[in-house]
Amino acid sequence: MRKCNVCKLKKPNFWFKKKPNGDLKKTCRGCERTWWGGFLRMLVKERQLTPAERLGNRLGYMGTAFIMMSPYLLPYDNIGAYTYLAGAVLSLPQVWLAKQWNLVIVNLNLLIGYGLYLFS
Ligand SMILES: [Zn+2]
Repeated sequence: MRKCNVCKLKKPNFWFKKKPNGDLKKTCRGCERTWWGGFLRMLVKERQLTPAERLGNRLGYMGTAFIMMSPYLLPYDNIGAYTYLAGAVLSLPQVWLAKQWNLVIVNLNLLIGYGLYLFS
């Protein structure tokens, strides 16, 4: 017997599917396949990230860190402007590959804005 985490009922073990590692799932078969769950599953495409996307993710985190610390570095001899530029360049591949065009525009705006700020 096992308690389902959705319907909170105790059901025999054959009601629970096995995970790839051999453990039983926490949700019973009855709750796992509702019409709503099936609909949501239909909307999601399962896939693995490509190597370029993985690399973009890593670079994106680094770029975000640069952008995060930039406002605090601006008063110190404009180091903040350089870290803004580095952050924008590092974040660009991730948002470009994910086709998040709004963030691509934000990053390009950051590049142009702080580029003009530095070189004028
Ligand atoms: Zn259940």
